[in-house]
Amino acid sequence: MNAVAVHEAPLVRQDSIAPLKLQVRVQSVSHLADDINAFEFVSVDSDTLPAFTPGSHIDVHLPNGAIRQYSLCNPSTERHRYVIAVLRDPLGRGGSVAMHDVLRAGQVVTVSAPRNHFALSNSATRHIFIAGGIGITPLMSMIAEVALTQDFCYRAAAVASCSFLPVRMLAGTTYDEAAQHDNTTGIDRGGR
Ligand SMILES: Cc1cc2nc3c(=O)[nH]c(=O)nc-3n(C[C@H](O)[C@H](O)[C@H](O)COP(=O)(O)OP(=O)(O)OC[C@H]3O[C@@H](n4cnc5c(N)ncnc54)[C@H](O)[C@@H]3O)c2cc1C
Repeated sequence: MNAVAVHEAPLVRQDSIAPLKLQVRVQSVSHLADDINAFEFVSVDSDTLPAFTPGSHIDVHLPNGAIRQYSLCNPSTERHRYVIAVLRDPLGRGGSVAMHDVLRAGQVVTVSAPRNHFALSNSATRHIFIAGGIGITPLMSMIAEVALTQDFCYRAAAVASCSFLPVRMLAGTTYDEAAQHDNTTGIDRGGR
């Protein structure tokens, strides 16, 4: 049986135990696609951050008091940073807008230690990753974990809103190596 990874973002937190909190510094903010920025966090007082597994997310405590969850996109072998990618949603309650409009390199913010509600299956013999738009984020560290040997299909509404750059940047591959491209909407890597 193949594992199919589907990313859904519930509006209600499901954790009953308050997670460990950390102080991190915004090391960099970079533009990935239309309305999508990547944020790189490093520890303020140590070389390493708590370890995470592919599919994990952190809570980000925003200056406006909002707390929002974001999937870690970088390879889980990295201990020196957390990288997230955030879609700016002007129809939301202000969390993602604050991430984009308020958070800047050099600022210190509180985040939770990583938690994983979307773990990569250990028992699957093969994975098929299917993502649309910002839904690629939890799959990035999974794709890194299986070293792009598995199939994936990624779609976005338009090339400009297609955050496929992380596929290259974070999974450590090149565009041509990563996938065949249909020139309009995204990336496919055909089934085998
Ligand atoms: C585990 C997890 C991982 C996530 N990872 C990412 C990620 O990697 N990148 C990312 O960009 N986002 C991610 N999210 C979503 C993120 O946490 C925020 O929800 C998102 O940034 C929007 O925040 P916001 O405050 O702008 O909007 P929110 O207020 O959270 O609203 C989000 C959307 O829901 C709608 N909405 C809000 N309230 C209601 C309501 N009562 N009824 C109907 N619709 C409503 C809004 O119109 C808006 O379109 C993740 C969420 C979870 C739970």
